[in-house]
This record gives sequence, C-alpha cells and structure tokens, in this order.
Amino acid sequence: MIIQTVNELIGQTPMMEIKGYDLPENTRILAKLEQFNPGGSIKDRLGVKLIDTAFKEGRINKESTIIEPTAGNTGIGLGLAAMSYGLKLIFVVPEKFSIEKQELMRVLGAEIVHTPTEEGIKGAVAKAKALGEKIENSYLPLQFENPVNPLTYYETLGPEIVKDLDGQYPDSFVAGAGSGGTFSGVAQYFKEQSESVRTVVVEPEGSILGGGEPGPHETEGIGVESFPPFMKKEWIDQIYTISDEEAFYYTKELARKNGLFIGSSSGAAFAAALKEAQTLPAGSTIVTVFPDGSERYLSKNIYK
Ligand code: PMP
Repeated sequence: MIIQTVNELIGQTPMMEIKGYDLPENTRILAKLEQFNPGGSIKDRLGVKLIDTAFKEGRINKESTIIEPTAGNTGIGLGLAAMSYGLKLIFVVPEKFSIEKQELMRVLGAEIVHTPTEEGIKGAVAKAKALGEKIENSYLPLQFENPVNPLTYYETLGPEIVKDLDGQYPDSFVAGAGSGGTFSGVAQYFKEQSESVRTVVVEPEGSILGGGEPGPHETEGIGVESFPPFMKKEWIDQIYTISDEEAFYYTKELARKNGLFIGSSSGAAFAAALKEAQTLPAGSTIVTVFPDGSERYLSKNIYK
C-alpha cells in the first residue's frame, strides 16, 4: 500500500494486550497505542477534525490564522492538518510543557507564545483569546470547549475499540482527561451502545475531578482545572487520581517490561487500569488509551 499524505496514517492505531502484571485470572488490559499516529499522539485525530469542520462551517479560509492554547500535542495535530492549506499557526503554550513538542510545532511553521506555568491552561486560553481579538481573520478552535473535540473521539476511537474487539464491548474503558475530549467522546459512545460498559476517568493529583484543588503535577497532558463543559457527570462511573510517582513508575515499567516508549499520561492510565482490574470480576476486559510516546519528554527526564 502506498499512501499519499500522512493524514492517511491517522487513527486505526494498534491495540495491545499489556502482559506481565498481576491481574485476576483471564482479566485483560488492552491499550490503544496512540503514539502511532503520524504526529505521535491521540491529538492528530482532533487536529484534522477541527480544521475540516472550521472549513466546512465557513469559519476559516486559506488566509486564516489558527490560534490555539495547547500543551503541544493538539498543536502538532493542528499543524499537520493545516499543512496542505498553508494556514498560519500561533500556539499558546504554558512554559512548563516539553521543549520537544514545541520544536515539533515550530518545524510545522507555528509561532509559539508562552504563558507563565502558574497561570495554567486558563492563562493560555485567556492569552489566545486576546490574540484572537487583535489578529484579523483568526480562528480559535478552543479544544477545551469545542464540542468537535469529544465528537472526534465519539466518531473514531469508540468504534475502533469495538472493531479491535471483534464487535464486543469492553467491561471498562479507562482514559485520562486533559481537555476531557477523549474520555467524553468515548464514554458517550459506550453509554449509548451498551449500558454495561463502565467508563472511568483518570487524573493526576492537582486536578479537580475527584474534588481536589487545582495544583501542580509532573504528569503531562492530563489534569483538569475546571469541569469540562462537554463532560457529563453521569458518564463518570469512577475517578482514579494517580500520583506523579505512580504514573512515572509505570511509564518506566512499561518501557522495560513491555518495550513501550510511552508518555507519563499513559503511565497514569495504566496505573488506573490496574486498580480497575482489581475491582472487576475475574475475566474482565479493560480498554485504556496510551495517548503519546516518551521520546517527546526525554528532556524532562521522564525515566528518572
Ligand atoms: N495525554 C496526553 C499526552 C495529552 O497530550 C492529552 C491531551 N492534552 C491527554 C492525555 C488528554 O486528552 P484529552 O485532552 O482528550 O482529555
């Protein structure tokens, strides 16, 4: 097969059974390996959908400037999607996020604007909105509130999981939340399809879903500062709040034991999937998502 653009490589990611951990008999943990998207993360799915929708709805033309607050992966996804149209890109990134992701956004032609780490994603959103008011013909996809975000995963990731399972539904779906798009889209899909699927959200300490105060954490890509507008409480059957220590422990274990070079949000998702496995009857199938790879975090000493 010869492909014509990298966009054809988005989605249809491998699902891998993660072996070598202590699980109840016949229980399986299966992970969607999203690092195999061409931009290296789950957000490639979103970038394409955001740009295509904005064109279809007449919100942008080929002269537009896309402005988006991002921890990096959405910026890379938007950059790949915008490439064939030659759109201008400005990404607003809180300082703490990895330099590798910023370099990848820059090579796609993006201008990076930094906001202080202490101001969090809220600070980046406010800055992006201020830039949007100043720059003519600009468009802000605003992943943190745009319903196209969960819709992307409702339409792609949910059905792919069922296809990977030969038409079966998992007993439980476990996913981290940053914007909450992945979790919300897939949770809605499963809740509509089958009442028996548990939908479980993962957050780091310093995220508010479990009732905690917003605060700093090292696990990159997940953590919620305010309840996402498109997330529904009834989709959340369980919340696991995973410490940085635990997330980084499994990030390293999955590299050493399973050969998976995954980012720390994947380590957190796996830690939660292991906890979930212990609460379910033996023989259960738990599906989780590993959103990106470790190589974009080597400068942050991910294997410390
Ligand atoms: N992990 C990583 C590495 C990410 O970049 C993101 C997106 N910020 C997530 C997890 C969470 O995905 P979502 O925004 O769909 O909740």
